[in-house]
Amino acid sequence: MKQTLIAQITATLAEIEAAGLTKRERQITTAQSGRIAVGGRRMVNLCANNYLGLADHPEVIAAAHRGLDEFGFGMASVRFICGTQTIHRSLEQAIAAHLGKDDAIIFAACFDANGAIFEPLLGEEDAIISDSLNHASIIDGVRLSKAQRFRFANRDMNDLEAQLKAAEAKNCRHRLIATDGVFSMDGTIAPLPQICALAEKYGAMVMVDDCHATGHLGAQGRGTADLTGAGSRVDIITGTLGKTLGGAMGGFIAAPQPIIDLLRQRARPYLFSNSLAPTIVTGSLKALEIAIKSDDRRAKLGHLTRKFRAGLTAAGFSLLEGETPIIPVMVGDAPMAQNLALELDRLGVFVAGFFYPVVPHGKARIRTQMSAALNDEDIDFAIDAFTQAGKTLKLI
Ligand SMILES: *Cc1c(COP(=O)(O)O)cnc(C)c1O
Repeated sequence: MKQTLIAQITATLAEIEAAGLTKRERQITTAQSGRIAVGGRRMVNLCANNYLGLADHPEVIAAAHRGLDEFGFGMASVRFICGTQTIHRSLEQAIAAHLGKDDAIIFAACFDANGAIFEPLLGEEDAIISDSLNHASIIDGVRLSKAQRFRFANRDMNDLEAQLKAAEAKNCRHRLIATDGVFSMDGTIAPLPQICALAEKYGAMVMVDDCHATGHLGAQGRGTADLTGAGSRVDIITGTLGKTLGGAMGGFIAAPQPIIDLLRQRARPYLFSNSLAPTIVTGSLKALEIAIKSDDRRAKLGHLTRKFRAGLTAAGFSLLEGETPIIPVMVGDAPMAQNLALELDRLGVFVAGFFYPVVPHGKARIRTQMSAALNDEDIDFAIDAFTQAGKTLKLI
């Protein structure tokens, strides 16, 4: 039995390898930034979620040091036993104030926040209406709840309305629409004002996962609800501390008070998993504080995004349209994405190929991401490298 399982796993790994789908991890020897070192080589990094470049910001590092000195290394407890320090509540209140919500609750990751949210709030009489391109953590979170599931085609408002009608026809008690704010593989933005209008028409609540927006999109980095003008019509916002807000780790839910209060009593990843480490809490608090006032970094991010898009388009690459710092370069099949990533690696540009199962078959891509840690010379260097690699591989 044991032998046959191992043999089967070995065969699966061989299939993944034969299909050119094996993901390999390169080891970085420096802090996360716009320029990193790998195997003694300096590289321009185009694939971190480090949108504002705060991952190695000196003030964030200093704040983490202060957290370590004053509050220790770890909590050795979940929140409700003896794992809540004053700084945990300060971070929750700062997130809630930033997003204009009553309160917030923090988790070890946004994967946990999305895994935590549905099951305590909704039962089998209720309905969750979810965008088909939502992040894996939302899909898993929905699976963990007993609510009835409805799925609408990505950003398709006719289909969303059809699914809301289907939920109504089944006499579902409560309805919750769940969507990513920014779809991470495509870099597109959810049409939140239209989603909220349909939610109001059919008496649904709206939950937005803003992992790829909080801190860098919208006024003061308040995210897609602000950017699209939906504002407080969005009821629940989930997000991460592992991207723009310092990039360490941790997730959150910001919502009306009763929702947060119930999650503190019932959310399983909150009740049964360790409290966030003090260094992460104080570092993330500082990162949020810096992000709020960093209009200069947001402007630089926008400038680099437009410059890189224009450069790659002029070189002949096929990009997905969008206004976010996520710029997907479409290449077709998985081995081509791997080859382009390899060629760019050789030329000193760090990117990753994305292919099935992360994106659909035939839609393999290099997902590039801009960062305020990069500068104009880095972008020129990257456009040259893409052009050279694209010609070598006969992509352009
Ligand atoms: C990154 C991401 C997550 C997971 O966040 P972690 O804090 O890394 O667990 C969830 N949802 C979306 C849309 C993401 O992009």
